[in-house]
Amino acid sequence: MSPRREIINNTESSSFMGDGSHNLSADVEFSLSSDENQDADGNNDVLRDKNFSGSKKPNSTLNTSSPDLFRKETERSVSPLADMPEEALEAGIRPRYLGDFVGQSALREHLSILIEAARQRSQSVDHILFAGPPGLGKTTLASIVANEMGTKIQVTSGPVLARGGDLAAILSGLAPGDVLFIDEIHRLSRAVEEVLYPAMEDQAIDIVIGKGPSAQAIRLTLPSFTLVGATTRTGLVTGPLRDRFGFVARLDHYGIDELRSIVFRTARILDVEIDEEGAWEIAKRSRGTPRLAIRLLRRVRDFVQVRGQGVITEESAMQGCEIFGVDKLGLDHLDRQILEVLCLRFEGRPVGLSTLAVSLGEEPDTLEDVYEPYLLRAGLILRTPRGRVPSLAAWRHLGIEPPQSQLPYILEDSDTQTGGQQSLTEAN
Ligand code: ADP
Repeated sequence: MSPRREIINNTESSSFMGDGSHNLSADVEFSLSSDENQDADGNNDVLRDKNFSGSKKPNSTLNTSSPDLFRKETERSVSPLADMPEEALEAGIRPRYLGDFVGQSALREHLSILIEAARQRSQSVDHILFAGPPGLGKTTLASIVANEMGTKIQVTSGPVLARGGDLAAILSGLAPGDVLFIDEIHRLSRAVEEVLYPAMEDQAIDIVIGKGPSAQAIRLTLPSFTLVGATTRTGLVTGPLRDRFGFVARLDHYGIDELRSIVFRTARILDVEIDEEGAWEIAKRSRGTPRLAIRLLRRVRDFVQVRGQGVITEESAMQGCEIFGVDKLGLDHLDRQILEVLCLRFEGRPVGLSTLAVSLGEEPDTLEDVYEPYLLRAGLILRTPRGRVPSLAAWRHLGIEPPQSQLPYILEDSDTQTGGQQSLTEAN
């Protein structure tokens, strides 16, 4: 069993092919490209959930094809990926209608227009692509589209759909108006994408019945449906696929006020008492990500339940976060270790990605995909052509003044950084 199948199966997914009514692939061969049948294991790991509550979503959003990386990532309090118990819990927390969805106001308005227009015309909503980092609400919005339209949602993900036949089987089982959510859509194989094109454009799939000279091509008409795709890597979505979406939206990180509202809303659902300052403290440490805000709230709730008075205040939130290793910038021990290696071991000199990865005992890809984005965004490290350097803010966050000899690196490199807010004035 491949690693990604393991991950999906761990989410208690039901096998689509277990539902006999959709078993198209037994005597039907799909007219797809030659690499079509590469995956011989014949699994059809599709998450069919007609009453989607968000609890059965595949967990992989970043480069989680490695089970090791997935495990490591979800063990971190600040990982934007969902862990298993959390998936189950999200069921009750996930907003069900647009009115419950906090923040992203422009996007919410666009969606409400799209949905209302489709309702008035008694049609399906146009196909939608949501792009943005993990944990910002892409899956939630997909389920909201279905709820607002009064239809069902079916959830799957790019890496699960190994063959065109897998997707064709799902598509042929959709009811009119259903939403099909494909997470990590940038990881669809070409063969599967080719099944998607006519389905999106003409509501049809081309299939070949039989084999050899007697094979017969037929076109199967599908009910009208809405495809909602989600990607953490917009650049990897192929042009032809992107062009077939009627609406493409990017989700941005949330402001502290919005995260605070999410913390309050979740606290209400979880029946936890929290004051303004407590919610603010959790929001500040959540890296702009609702999933992290919710997770930190749950950790702090555990802390106050066991050690405190049962109420989350500024002080108990601070203590709870510190105990779980999340500092005031939302960094955990792995993030701080990166800063320490840069500042202390390499004394602030530029360090190449692979050297840094070896020093930390990590894979370069993991470092780049998982750890670096937030450190860059927070302006704690700078990515330069010569390598990574810590910013002045990083030195200060560790409580160390940079040695005078390192100031030239910081000053020069603050021009070339790809993220962060470090300025020359500040460095001076
Ligand atoms: P993604 O699909 O982008 O990884 P999800 O949609 O799974 O993110 O959201 C992660 C968690 O954060 C869910 O529990 C969801 O309920 C919550 N969440 C995300 N965005 C919002 C929001 N705008 N308002 C309230 N809760 C949110």
